[in-house]
Amino acid sequence: MAFDFVKKLDFESEFFDLFKLSESAYGAISKENSGMGGNAGFIDIGDYLIIVDTTGNVEAAKDLIKAATQYTKKEPNFIVITHYHMDHLMGTSLFDVSTQIMTSDRTLKNIQTEGRKKIEEFKKMDLKEMEESLKTETDEEKRKEIENDLKFLKVVRSDDFTLREPNLTFKEGCVIHGTDKSVQLRTFTKAHTDGDVIVYIPEEKILFAGDLLFARIDPWLGSGNPEGWISVNDELMSFDFKVTVPGHGKLASKEEFSLENRYIKEILELVNKRVEAGEDPTHIKREDFSKELQSWKSPILEGNINFLAEFLKKT
Ligand SMILES: [Zn+2]
Repeated sequence: MAFDFVKKLDFESEFFDLFKLSESAYGAISKENSGMGGNAGFIDIGDYLIIVDTTGNVEAAKDLIKAATQYTKKEPNFIVITHYHMDHLMGTSLFDVSTQIMTSDRTLKNIQTEGRKKIEEFKKMDLKEMEESLKTETDEEKRKEIENDLKFLKVVRSDDFTLREPNLTFKEGCVIHGTDKSVQLRTFTKAHTDGDVIVYIPEEKILFAGDLLFARIDPWLGSGNPEGWISVNDELMSFDFKVTVPGHGKLASKEEFSLENRYIKEILELVNKRVEAGEDPTHIKREDFSKELQSWKSPILEGNINFLAEFLKKT
């Protein structure tokens, strides 16, 4: 979908395209296979500059800071982290204590448990196998993926890497009041993760959805609660916004939330049917979805099916 009020800026980055969404808000949308991880953005509220997510790639985060300071002539004062997944918060390692890092209580808790555990796993991983597979892999897209993974792991394992964790948290939500604009933060449980945060600028009708929205891409269901997610999306669709920066995928509107809900409902039903019939759910194919969802490309489908098969057994 094209948004005539959105302006693509000619900022040079190998990782993202930069868009000016409104007077105060900018969206950094990951280029395909760039290794950036999640989308990000920044908001100039007058006296403060807020960064929304810091991507999964320290080099991409450097570009994000460069863009933010270039276009706003300010230094970042706040960072909002939308959830605990590493592809949204690696860049926090670049900021010192003068930048406040905000998130929900639950996301902080998840970073301190799941996040820290992930980093330990990354540090222990054997890279030899990946390096070997790079030698034999001929598919260009897969090669790029392995290369990006290797780069990521090398950064995490370097001695000077320390992830800065959020230092300012809230239970349900809060407002950052600027001289020009106010920005609302709100958190949800039981959705993409337990503790997802959205950033909303009501005056400008702009929504940063974090991974509550994967725009026209399979949403990763395995860290949260698919049924809860559907209700959260229903609530978000009642917000007054004209464009949203999704966690993954291109700039989006309410239509993408409704498509995502359709995907979650359909995959729940497909897996449920097979599990109830005692059949193997892993045989579900892209063609089993309704037409609008069949063109989505993502390696996540299989992971979602496996997760749901277990999830439905428990509920
Ligand atoms: Zn995520």
